[in-house]
Amino acid sequence: MPEPGYYGQFGGSFIPEILVATFEELVQAFEQAKADPEFWNTYLKLMGSYSCRPTPLTYAENLTRHFGGARIYIKREDLNHTGAHKANNVMGQGLLVKRMGKGRVIAETGAGQHGVATATMAAKFGFDCTIYMGEIDVQRQRPNVFWMERLGATVIPVTEGTRTLKDAINEAFRDWVSAMDDTHYVLGTACGPHPFPEMVTWFQSIIGLEARRQVLEETGQLPARIYACVGGGSNAMGIFSGFLDDDVELVGVEAGGRGLETGAHAARLASSDASLGVAQGYKTFFLQDDDGQMKETHSVAAGLDYVGVSPILSHLKETGRVRFSAATDTEVVDALSLTIRKEGLIPALESAHGFVQAFKEAPTLSHDDVIIINQSGRGDKDIFTVADAFEDPGWKQFIRDKAKEYDAR
Ligand SMILES: *Cc1c(COP(=O)(O)O)cnc(C)c1O
Repeated sequence: MPEPGYYGQFGGSFIPEILVATFEELVQAFEQAKADPEFWNTYLKLMGSYSCRPTPLTYAENLTRHFGGARIYIKREDLNHTGAHKANNVMGQGLLVKRMGKGRVIAETGAGQHGVATATMAAKFGFDCTIYMGEIDVQRQRPNVFWMERLGATVIPVTEGTRTLKDAINEAFRDWVSAMDDTHYVLGTACGPHPFPEMVTWFQSIIGLEARRQVLEETGQLPARIYACVGGGSNAMGIFSGFLDDDVELVGVEAGGRGLETGAHAARLASSDASLGVAQGYKTFFLQDDDGQMKETHSVAAGLDYVGVSPILSHLKETGRVRFSAATDTEVVDALSLTIRKEGLIPALESAHGFVQAFKEAPTLSHDDVIIINQSGRGDKDIFTVADAFEDPGWKQFIRDKAKEYDAR
């Protein structure tokens, strides 16, 4: 019997002694929820009435014609409330918090999307909410901080370390240790100590369940390949989990940043720059130096620049079940432009990583083949980041004029 929470040699639960009882309580609540069909039904009802589920599977007819190969379908996680698949996880954990009878949630956030999703869930369920965010990210991602605060959350800028996501995670754990009884830590992706990778994947598996049913209904066949971007790995695990037992090729696409050869990237599984380690409560591939110090990562997509990756994906790479590649910033912006023009869809910069690899491979497949790209989120709400990526001169001028307007007040 493998130990619970292990995927091959990856995963586990490396937590301080003081949190052991809290994790046991969480594992139990999760196991009970999983065994209770009513829980999943309540979840489905909530997601249907609050977050636009089931999300459509859209046939990208123009892109298909453009590439002249496989028929391209897009799973529309961008249509979730708050604009990304993150809603699937936070609303699910929210229901679990209610079940555990707790009244306060905390979360880490990098770019701020998970923070906004958690603050939204807390507003809906009436939970007290504190979000930990690196001081640098607070400065970079003001629009998301603005919304978190409007939603009633307290946003705490973290001034430790590199003042980014990994420091925010450490701070959230510190909070949890001091307030375990009434607090639940809503971890944002399929990483961290057991049961988080499994639990987050379970809530996100709604993507794959729907996509499998939809593609069969629509085309009468299973897809040849599925593409998903990989930050922590939750949207990828969500869609992949619906097809693990099928003869379907699964492709994870990481942030290639300025190019794998430059070191300025966040490719943990698609490059040989990452190594096995234990950090932040679990064992996986981390981008770290020989002393175990985490490296700086880079990506045009703020949601993909995490140093670790889901232990489940590390395992699926090792067993050869999932193939990994990386997309550079330049390729991502090009794929995003093309998708906007051809389909009128605006994927998030994160999601566009999956589009890059799909576009490379679609022409090599036949029109009899179907491929699915998981559009994890939408880009229009991230106009600051997207406009920066496009280096749009009109937008820059607009910001300058706005700044002048404020200075004059
Ligand atoms: C957060 C985010 C991601 C990365 O997270 P995963 O856990 O890897 O899915 C990808 N796409 C969007 C739109 C996001 O907001």
